Amino acid sequence: VFFVESREKLPVCPVCGGTLKYRDCKKRILKKEGGERIWLIIRRCKCDDCQSYHNELPDCLTPYKHYSTEIISGVLDEIVTPMDIDTEDYPCLQTMLRWIKWFNINLANIEGQLRQVSHHLLDLGDDVLFSKDSLLEAIRSSNSRWLEIILRIIYNSGGRIPALPW
Ligand SMILES: [Zn+2]
Repeated sequence: VFFVESREKLPVCPVCGGTLKYRDCKKRILKKEGGERIWLIIRRCKCDDCQSYHNELPDCLTPYKHYSTEIISGVLDEIVTPMDIDTEDYPCLQTMLRWIKWFNINLANIEGQLRQVSHHLLDLGDDVLFSKDSLLEAIRSSNSRWLEIILRIIYNSGGRIPALPW
């Protein structure tokens, strides 16, 4: 899984840095606010070097989740709550609680991966890596699309955020 960087050019393989080739497309459902459902065409690519397959996701999707990333971060930021009147259009309470659990369980993991990427790719150096400030919190407090941003950083550098095991 990786996120679209540009329409014309495929990025390098997030696992080995090899060359990705377009293979085929598949459909994925996206549930949006207001109960709207749209089908997205996702491009599937294969790495020439390590032979792994990768799905190219648009920013609005979170890997393995059917709701838009905007709704998920809305729940995590408590902008979307179970108290919303249009509950029919929103994910059920159980789904919201699972997202919160998923996020909280992965907090240290997300922070660690952000630090690793900023260390390797951005070469920000030791003061970022050993600073006590949370990179996740820094991104989260500065941008309403924070979940899209951290998912892109983590997945496009070969990382992943595991789903809940149950
Ligand atoms: Zn590869």
